[in-house]
Amino acid sequence: MTNVDAREIEMFDGHGDTWWDENGPFKSLHDINPLRLDFIQRAVNLRGLKVLDVGCGGGILSEGLARAGAHVSSIDLAEDALACARTHALSSGLDIEYRAISAEQLAQESPAKYDVVVCMEMLEHVPDPGSVCHALGTLVKPGGDVFMSTLNRNPKSWLFAIVAAERILRLLPAGTHQHEKFIRPHELAGYCRQSNLHVQKLRGMGYNPLNQRYSLNEDLDVNYLLHARRNQDA
Ligand code: SAH
Repeated sequence: MTNVDAREIEMFDGHGDTWWDENGPFKSLHDINPLRLDFIQRAVNLRGLKVLDVGCGGGILSEGLARAGAHVSSIDLAEDALACARTHALSSGLDIEYRAISAEQLAQESPAKYDVVVCMEMLEHVPDPGSVCHALGTLVKPGGDVFMSTLNRNPKSWLFAIVAAERILRLLPAGTHQHEKFIRPHELAGYCRQSNLHVQKLRGMGYNPLNQRYSLNEDLDVNYLLHARRNQDA
């Protein structure tokens, strides 16, 4: 397994079972969860669909997808995060399959298996995001939908996502992100093109420190979401 940064996995495992503490280290994932679910559900009706959540962590997004009626399978390489996710799904009465396997390995095992594949806040933590994107494009059925989110790379995203979010407002634990691993939208769109994925939509996710609320907008400078569809004949 080459496309994994062991320090990243250690960092995510290091937060133990705090994933579901809404005021804990993953508070921002809880805060943006309704927005990203809204972004997905404006494009597809999840009820009855087979959905894969790649880099699922403690299952914050997976559970939202399951509550919307999807049959959810989720993968990550952080074993403690997966253990936390399994326990929480049980207590929520949700049937979600959690597995420790990389996207690339699963793509070899189960190509074109899923109606929808999501991969949020994960690509900026892997050495080769293009390889993950290619796996997403293999895992989704022809005509199926892929949703990703990540952070843009520019001076403003350094100021907002690193300096403000980690050091001043402390929305995230210090050291969560490395700016050089952020991904520009045109780079992500390029990975999509190389993976038979056709970009449908891009939206920004903004944070207003005055009312401490996140919202979807057209500003892709910091955090953004991308919706792509696999070509029918791919
Ligand atoms: N997608 C979830 C969690 C985001 S945190 C959410 O948005 O709520 C980032 C997650 O990516 C962590 O759980 C981390 O373990 C996982 N991750 C990082 N590198 C990975 C890799 N190479 N393969 C699989 N998961 C990875």
